[in-house]
Amino acid sequence: MSDLQSLYQEVILDHSRNPRHFGKPQQWTHHIRGQNPLCGDEIDLYVTLDEEKQVIRSIHFDGQGCSISIASASFMAEHLSGKSRTEALTWIQRFFQMVKTPFTEPLNEEEYGDLIVFGGVRAFPSRVKCATLAWHALESVLKGEGKEVITTE
Ligand code: ZN
Repeated sequence: MSDLQSLYQEVILDHSRNPRHFGKPQQWTHHIRGQNPLCGDEIDLYVTLDEEKQVIRSIHFDGQGCSISIASASFMAEHLSGKSRTEALTWIQRFFQMVKTPFTEPLNEEEYGDLIVFGGVRAFPSRVKCATLAWHALESVLKGEGKEVITTE
């Protein structure tokens, strides 16, 4: 494993052990439950959207899941809180695109920025849904699509 890969693993471990924005907040405007039955991950996402300004005021979550699902939700909450709806949707698409890129293809660091710490999940196709769960849930909130997301296929 390269130094860089082990650094990325450190970041993921840190987020899974000390998740940011974890716990049900006192208030929110949107709640959604995300489930990944293949792994048993269940995440409740609490989002406060400023509809007028089209900005995400805050993202919190709780629930239980494997370390990848928790780390990814924590990372997402930290990175997308405060972003505009459009900007957040762009990052979400970028994340999906990244984890769908074959593992044999190198990732462009400039394109993916900090997301790249999760690039390693591509080596474990069964864990990709763990990594994308929170992102699917937030996408659904931002698109006004419903109260539950279940990752299947
Ligand atoms: Zn999982």
